[in-house]
Amino acid sequence: ANCASSDFDFFYFVQQWPGAYCDTKQQRCCYPKTGRPAADFGIHGLWPNYNDGTYPSNCDPHSVFDRTQISEVLSSMQKHWPSLSCPSSNGLRFWSHEWEKHGTCSESELDQKEYFEAAIKLKEKANLLKLLNNAGIEANDEFYSLESIRNAIEEGIGFTPGIECNKDSAGNPQLYQIYLCVHTSASEFIKCPILPKGKCASNIQFPKF
Ligand code: 5GP
Ligand code: 5GP
Ligand code: 5GP
Repeated sequence: ANCASSDFDFFYFVQQWPGAYCDTKQQRCCYPKTGRPAADFGIHGLWPNYNDGTYPSNCDPHSVFDRTQISEVLSSMQKHWPSLSCPSSNGLRFWSHEWEKHGTCSESELDQKEYFEAAIKLKEKANLLKLLNNAGIEANDEFYSLESIRNAIEEGIGFTPGIECNKDSAGNPQLYQIYLCVHTSASEFIKCPILPKGKCASNIQFPKF
């Protein structure tokens, strides 16, 4: 992908399950300084992408993350976009990374404030945990078929999601990230032009958090 290009075809809106992030082999997690996040999916990122699966990154070195742009939505950011990496942080490092790597590639559509606000709105609109729970799929360490997870989300959103798994220290495949595709305006879900290549078994664990 050409990093100088500011054009793109669609977004991946990627959410992570904290129970899987914290349970992954050779990785520990640290709760944010603001406290243990809710047992809900959290935003990983809103990533400009091309239809062929490649993507631009770090498109504007002059556009640095500016925390004042998110001051009005700070509590929503902490709730919906917590950072679980170590050492414990207040999220700013994660958000700054996401803005500089991905957000700068959609500046033709959204400025910094609009970018973060759009991601929060998409998170609230999708409500993945509710869709799964309504289908009887709960974060209780049980195994569910990949198909049942995919179907529950497809019924709620209208489009097939991409699903990415990880393995815990015992080697169990787990539900880790869910990818939804979003129009370049960042306001509505669309059918994925290309699904990310997920490495999931046909039955996967939905770990507790
Ligand atoms: P990983 O190697 O863990 O799959 O991905 C590392 C990072 O590369 C992700 O956090 C994200 O920043 C970027 N990335 C991975 N896959 C994609 C993709 O399909 N589209 C975009 N836009 N970024 C991706
Ligand atoms: P993978 O082999 O998993 O597709 O990619 C490995 C890493 O290469 C990703 O984590 C990402 O950092 C980088 N990468 C793969 N495809 C692209 C692309 O189209 N654009 C950019 N900027 N990085 C990519
Ligand atoms: P990516 O390049 O994969 O979009 O972003 C991953 C980067 O964000 C890594 O440097 C990772 O350490 C950092 N990061 C901070 N908090 C989190 C988190 O809660 N989840 C993930 N996946 N990455 C995080």
